[in-house]
Amino acid sequence: MDAAIQQRLDEFIARKGLRRTGQRELIARAVFSKDEHFTAEELYDRVKRTSPDVSRATVYRTLSLLVEADLLREIDLGENQTTYDPNFHDKPSHNHLVCIDCGQVVEFEDSHIDLLNDCVTRRLGFKPVRQTLVIEANCEQLRQKGRCPNLIASRLSGKRLRKKR
Ligand SMILES: [Zn+2]
Ligand SMILES: [Zn+2]
Repeated sequence: MDAAIQQRLDEFIARKGLRRTGQRELIARAVFSKDEHFTAEELYDRVKRTSPDVSRATVYRTLSLLVEADLLREIDLGENQTTYDPNFHDKPSHNHLVCIDCGQVVEFEDSHIDLLNDCVTRRLGFKPVRQTLVIEANCEQLRQKGRCPNLIASRLSGKRLRKKR
């Protein structure tokens, strides 16, 4: 886990008057050890594999805490479930492109989008605090080959699938 993230988490925990606990540390490390997006259940499954005594409730509580500390962001990738994104600390205004076929998520940053959001927000008399854009799209494989190899991979790995439209 990044030293800057660790420091911010420690400060937040101290400010809230909470104790540092081994389980919370362990969950936080699992969250920030990868740059993958995940659901609470996916994280619980991942943590449980190495630490079977961690409870689901502790995982959910720690996720709320990390969100409150603004280290972790809840995002909506259009699947009727909350996805957690650990990458906003490093890339504060990154955006997501989601393949509507296989659910593959691609992150990108673009200064033009930032500028546009900034202009629109200010014109309406506000000041932007956080911004992120989700683009639903077809992946190149699907367009070129008529099927997406990721679709099979995501099925095999048991990853959730997006509905076709
Ligand atoms: Zn992201
Ligand atoms: Zn795809």
